[in-house]
Amino acid sequence: MKISCKIIEDLLPLYIDEVCSEESKKLIEEHLSECSQCNEKLNRMKLGYVPEQEREQNLAEAEFMRNLSKKWNKKLLFATLKGIISTLIFVVVILLIMYLFIDIRIV
Ligand SMILES: [Zn+2]
Repeated sequence: MKISCKIIEDLLPLYIDEVCSEESKKLIEEHLSECSQCNEKLNRMKLGYVPEQEREQNLAEAEFMRNLSKKWNKKLLFATLKGIISTLIFVVVILLIMYLFIDIRIV
């Protein structure tokens, strides 16, 4: 029996997921051995196809990266605060020195 490419195309996702029946599988493999077009489709589907488990892993990794960037932002905030505080201290010391200097001059 000759099956059309359209039917194969419909069945390919099931074939990749390995949830189709043995009979369908045989039909698909038979068709694939003769049809380069559907072979190409299969390859493209396989490339774009991410198994459920892997997808969850990707989500976990994304979550991890988000947490990491949050931590990094906190570090950056602390570094900025430290910079501001040390600048303030520096300015206060300079003002104090100037004040003392002026005070001395006045006296
Ligand atoms: Zn075909």
